[in-house]
Amino acid sequence: MSSSKRFAPGSTIGILGGGQLGRMFALAASRLGYKTHVYCPEAGCPTSQVTDQATIEAYDNQTALASFAEAVDVVTYEFENIPDATVELLNAKSPVRPNAEVLHTSQDRLFEKKLFLDLGLETAPFADIATLDDLKSAVSDIGLPAILKTRRFGYDGKGQVKITDESQIEQAFADMAGAPVILEGFVSFESEISVLIAQSPAGEQSLFPIAENVHKNHILDTSTVPTSASQKVVDRALDAAKKIAAALKLEGLLAVEMFVTNDDRVIINEIAPRPHNSGHWSMDGCQTDQFEQAVRAVCNLPLGDTSIITPTKMKNLIGDEADDWAAYLAEPNAKLHLYGKAESRPGRKMGHVNYLLPKRD
Ligand code: AMP
Repeated sequence: MSSSKRFAPGSTIGILGGGQLGRMFALAASRLGYKTHVYCPEAGCPTSQVTDQATIEAYDNQTALASFAEAVDVVTYEFENIPDATVELLNAKSPVRPNAEVLHTSQDRLFEKKLFLDLGLETAPFADIATLDDLKSAVSDIGLPAILKTRRFGYDGKGQVKITDESQIEQAFADMAGAPVILEGFVSFESEISVLIAQSPAGEQSLFPIAENVHKNHILDTSTVPTSASQKVVDRALDAAKKIAAALKLEGLLAVEMFVTNDDRVIINEIAPRPHNSGHWSMDGCQTDQFEQAVRAVCNLPLGDTSIITPTKMKNLIGDEADDWAAYLAEPNAKLHLYGKAESRPGRKMGHVNYLLPKRD
C-alpha cells in the first residue's frame, strides 16, 4: 500500500523490532499522543516495556503478522533485517514506511554502493565476490589493506575481516562461510560523519546537523555536534543525503554514514532507514529529536525544526559502562538514557549519555 495518507495523533503506529531504537521511537510517539504496538520475537525487550501493545512472535508467523497489520494504522521498523515477505504481507493492510524499496536497498551493501555510484557519489573501491578467484583478482585490482564484508546482516563490525597481507586471503574467504560478500578498499579517513535526513510522504525534507563519530572496537563510542568538518565537506555531505533520500522516495528517517578524507572528499559508506545511534545527541541537544522527527515523517506530519540548542557530545554506554549510572546522574551537564536491558554483556549497548557542552562563539 503506497499512499501519502496522514496519520493524526491518536492513531496506532506498529513497530517491527524490539531494541532501544524502537523504545525511544515509542516514547516519542507517545509524547505526541500516538499509541504504539511492537512486533518482535523477544519477550521483555526494551521496546515492549514502553508500548501500549506487544506481539511477541517470529517475523515469519503469517497469522500473527496479519493480526498485527489489522491492529495498527501504519508500520515502521527499527532495524533493517526484516524479510521481504513480512513487509509485503503487512503492506497489503497498512502502509510500511520507509517503503520496501528503501529497506531492500539498505539490506545489502552491494545494492547500496550501486545506488551511490548511480547518483554520482563516491564510495570506497569495491568488488562483488563470489569465489576465491574473484577475491584474489579483486585484491590485485583494489590493493591492500582491504576489508571483506558480508553483503547482508553485518553491524558493529560483525561480518567483516580486514586483509592486510596476501597470505590472509584464503582464511578471510573461508571465514565468510559462503555468505555473499564484497571486498572494499580501506579508506584512510580523517574523520567519520553521519547525516540524518527526514523526508515526509508529502516530499518535505529536513536535515539534522552533521554528527562527527568516533568508533571503538568497531562500535560507535561518541558522536559530537556540530562537526569540525569544513563547509565544503558539510555541503557535499548534506547534498549526498538529499540525493539518496529523493532517489529512494524515502518516507521516514534515513541515516547516511560517510568517511571524510584529508583532501575534503566525502565517501559514502552505508545507509540505515531508521533512527540511528549517531542521532541520539538530538534527544537533548536539538529542537526536535530524531525519534520525534521519525514519527512526524512516518505519519506525514509537518517536520520539526532541527536547530542545535547547544553543542552536544553523545557517549554510548557499552556493557558494564552503564553500571556507573550514579556517577552520570551526578554530573550537571550529563543527560542519562538507559534502555532497560536486564543483562549487561561486553559489546552490548546499554544506554547513552548526552553531555551538553558550552555554546561556541
Ligand atoms: P560498517 O559496518 O561498514 O559501518 O563499518 C564499521 C566501521 O568500520 C566504520 O564505521 C569504520 O570505522 C570501519 N570501516 C568500515 N569500512 C571501512 C573502509 N572501507 N575503510 C576504513 N574503515 C572502514
